Amino acid sequence: MRAATITDIIPKELIDEIRSFINNYNKILITTHLSPDGDALGASLALYHYLFRRGKDVKLIVPNSFPYFLKWMKGTENVLVYEYNPEVGQHLIMNAELIFCLDFNVPKRIGKMASFVTASNAKKILIDHHPYPENSCDVVISYPEISSTSELIFRLLYQAGEYEYIDKDIAECIYCGMMTDTGGFTYNSNDPEIFEIISLLLRKQIDKDAIYSNVYHNYTEERFRLLGFTLLKRMKIYIDIHSALIYLSKEDQQRYKSKKGDTEGFVNYPLSIRGIVFSAFIYEDDNYIKLSFRSQGNFACNEFAAEFFQGGGHLNAAGGEFYGTLEEAIVLFETGLKKYELKLKSASR
Ligand code: 5GP
Ligand code: MN
Repeated sequence: MRAATITDIIPKELIDEIRSFINNYNKILITTHLSPDGDALGASLALYHYLFRRGKDVKLIVPNSFPYFLKWMKGTENVLVYEYNPEVGQHLIMNAELIFCLDFNVPKRIGKMASFVTASNAKKILIDHHPYPENSCDVVISYPEISSTSELIFRLLYQAGEYEYIDKDIAECIYCGMMTDTGGFTYNSNDPEIFEIISLLLRKQIDKDAIYSNVYHNYTEERFRLLGFTLLKRMKIYIDIHSALIYLSKEDQQRYKSKKGDTEGFVNYPLSIRGIVFSAFIYEDDNYIKLSFRSQGNFACNEFAAEFFQGGGHLNAAGGEFYGTLEEAIVLFETGLKKYELKLKSASR
């Protein structure tokens, strides 16, 4: 078999440093961002399985719960949710010797755990693909041009010569993260090496079709009806500026018995409309308003999110937050659209 061409993008010194941290420390904690998605959880679980198989005392803690369509991944039953038991979480953070921070760039993204992780004396390793990482970790592996953190976990293990230790469970988690952060390889996924990596994962006997089904063909009837309602009754199209908005109040969600994770992916739908390059989803959460942004082409969602909604993210996928009513958030969003009118009019797919 001819070797695949996977470029060694991570400097050898960093690989060596991570290897020596793993060799020298036993109590290892992995953490990832609020509302963990397929990539956050896939990358974290892949690393968790690897370290567990290496005999490490490894724990994985996430700030809050994750959607039901990710529960099929091996190891999800061992994931600790900080929100459910903050004392245990604080104890783990304070006693860890090594902390992996995966798929987030600034401490704020892990919510209430942030101050404890920042204060911990553990060595810290950041592995992420969001732009502008805050450099407070001992090792920073940050590649915004790489489409998922899960891909970075693969590259780290591959470059470290650990490919043979990637088993089916690890490969499934990595594939899930790569798949979900590229919308099933429909955006951000033209790098041929992504497919070289997939081929190496398939050699670990993963069933990629089943993984797709587990994630995308696993919705409840309620979720589907909520989607129908949202597109029919809660969508605004601003066609001359190539933009769309969908929004849901708490009352809407209750009426359709919306569960955690049910609205995941909703923001992408308006991008299927001809001419739309920018889509926003404004969602009334328990004590704040959550915003999600997606774009096609060169319109910078992260810039928009940062300017109006204390947020950030990637060029084509970003998020933010708002404290006030849903109506006020919509007004601010529309003010933002006016300010970005020229950029939106000239944005290309
Ligand atoms: P989503 O819309 O799926 O929640 O998030 C899309 C992207 O934006 C993700 O890469 C996520 O990390 C980032 N993001 C979402 N919400 C926020 C936020 O409140 N602040 C920042 N800085 N990034 C966010
Ligand atoms: Mn990610």
